[in-house]
Amino acid sequence: MSQLTQAISEVQERLGSLQDEIERLKRYVEALEEENIRLKRELCAVPEQETNRVIANAERLQGVGRENLMKLYREGFHVCHLHFGQPLEDGDCLFCRAFLRRD
Ligand SMILES: [Zn+2]
Repeated sequence: MSQLTQAISEVQERLGSLQDEIERLKRYVEALEEENIRLKRELCAVPEQETNRVIANAERLQGVGRENLMKLYREGFHVCHLHFGQPLEDGDCLFCRAFLRRD
């Protein structure tokens, strides 16, 4: 293979992986948009006095990495928007699991 042919195939390879990355990001953005809509809907279903608490939880959650959330959940604490930081009473929470599965 000539040097030029090799250079071209390298560029093609890089373009290919960039396209994959763009597709991945597009799907990620779509998932985030869906989640945003879902959360807005969920927030509307929460009684008014709890809305501020849920918003505060969502803000706290943004600063916590996924690994730490997993760890927190395994240690027996909620990581969902509704009960963030509170002890898991039944050892399990559907909201937390949905939240952790999401990423
Ligand atoms: Zn929970």
